[in-house]
Amino acid sequence: MPDMDQQHASTQPRRHLSLDGVQKHVQAASLADLTVAELVALFGRETAVKQHAPDGRYQQDPRDGALVLYNEARNRRPHDNKPDAPETAATRPCPICNGDTTGIVDVAALSQGVTFINKNLYPAVYPAASDGGFTGLHFLQWTSSYHDHDWHNMPHADRVTVLARLAALEQKLLADSLPIPTAEAWPDGRSCHGYLGIFKNYGYLVGGSLAHGHQQMVYSPTMPPAFARDWAFYQARGETVAAYVRRENPEALLLRDYGEMLLLVPYFMKRPYHMLLIPKADKTLLCDLNDAELSAMADGWRDAIHAMRALLPQMGREIAYNVVVHNGPGAGLYVEFLPYSQEIGGMEHLGLWLCQRWPETAVADLQCLLFR
Ligand SMILES: [Zn+2]
Repeated sequence: MPDMDQQHASTQPRRHLSLDGVQKHVQAASLADLTVAELVALFGRETAVKQHAPDGRYQQDPRDGALVLYNEARNRRPHDNKPDAPETAATRPCPICNGDTTGIVDVAALSQGVTFINKNLYPAVYPAASDGGFTGLHFLQWTSSYHDHDWHNMPHADRVTVLARLAALEQKLLADSLPIPTAEAWPDGRSCHGYLGIFKNYGYLVGGSLAHGHQQMVYSPTMPPAFARDWAFYQARGETVAAYVRRENPEALLLRDYGEMLLLVPYFMKRPYHMLLIPKADKTLLCDLNDAELSAMADGWRDAIHAMRALLPQMGREIAYNVVVHNGPGAGLYVEFLPYSQEIGGMEHLGLWLCQRWPETAVADLQCLLFR
């Protein structure tokens, strides 16, 4: 691995996990060096992860299929981005920069530092739920070893690398092998088993416990209810969610055309500045994307996250958002950007959403920000 720390020695030192620190945790330099069975076995060998393993209890809401996983150990997670914490953001210790993390299973060089994938120290799901609990694998992808580097400020080539490593994990777990014997086959006939939920939580208010930029990846042997809704949509209408949105969403709500991807505000926007990123041609998995599509997706992620980070403070709100990838059957592949721009009240729990912006107003604000 080239020593990129040296290369930037003359610039202001910034918080990051050193390459030596990364190296200490590397169990595999690339996912390609591990069989799926070896990858799963690494979870069992990580004592710290085992200590925080889920309680093994779960229930399913009989009304909508929502899965409820129980894990009281997650109460003990460190939080370094609580807004009312006594330290300032610059002085709070970061466990990742301090190397207080789990074994790494994939590392890729960026223009500065590296991006890497490891196991979540506080997993929501765990491979060896011997007591019949919900089984799965919970990974984290650190966008960069540099604390402040993330989608909104990293160079294009680095963002493409980060997406390509997510795609490699997806390919490994879903298509190459069978991580968990009970993993369900896909209903569309595609040769895949199980599902990989990919999401990003940024901000204390929406589940992000650490400020160091990261994505979460949860391998589930059964179909997450959000994917089941996409699949039901496809079965009922004969087209994917992405194809429907491409056809039906008004041209005026398009934010940017990246050649291979479209960033838009959906006409059914539930909360101010919700955005969707969809490919122009139906895809299913990230690993189905060609180079041009990955490149366009990397720009879409940057613009959407940049916009959310800029607009939330303008609304007098904290920066807090989720990103959710829909890479299950019937979705056509799409990415949802969900800024925490308005609270969710009782009316919304009835399925009646009251949104304090019109989609057209949101588009005008977003365009002003993205194109100024
Ligand atoms: Zn950090």
